Amino acid sequence: MRIITSNAEETVAFGKEFGAKLPLGSVICFFGDLAAGKTTLIKGLVEGIAACSSDEVCSPTFAYLNIYTGKCPVYHFDLYRLHDIDEFLSMGFDEFMDDPNGICCIEWSERITKFIPEKAIKIRLKVLEETQREIVVE
Ligand code: ADP
Ligand code: MG
Repeated sequence: MRIITSNAEETVAFGKEFGAKLPLGSVICFFGDLAAGKTTLIKGLVEGIAACSSDEVCSPTFAYLNIYTGKCPVYHFDLYRLHDIDEFLSMGFDEFMDDPNGICCIEWSERITKFIPEKAIKIRLKVLEETQREIVVE
């Protein structure tokens, strides 16, 4: 599936619609450069899952992981600054990916390629113009 959004609000709206359909246990991996809109899409997704209000969704760049709780937990990873897979494992992060009752969103999952489960949904974002983004769901 491929869509183009013309502003951040449209990306949030897409995320919301997408999130509402996600089954528990989903793992979603996001690919795309800085400012491509990964966190923005996750804001919508979290709202769609009814995990919490999107105001609480922010980039966990420094902490690697935010957990939003509501109907079900959403584990929001941003691994941009992760050094290596050992660091990921040493923090026990792999267990979150296996939670059958939660939903896992991973920004910069390139950092843990080996650990991305087979079932993971991949979403690629690309900047087309200043406020235009291409979103491809695999
Ligand atoms: P990332 O997590 O990929 O680094 P963010 O979601 O944090 O990106 O930031 C995306 C930035 O681009 C935000 O400032 C957002 O307002 C802006 N933006 C402009 N147009 C769009 C769009 N169509 N979709 C998503 N974000 C957009
Ligand atoms: Mg981000």
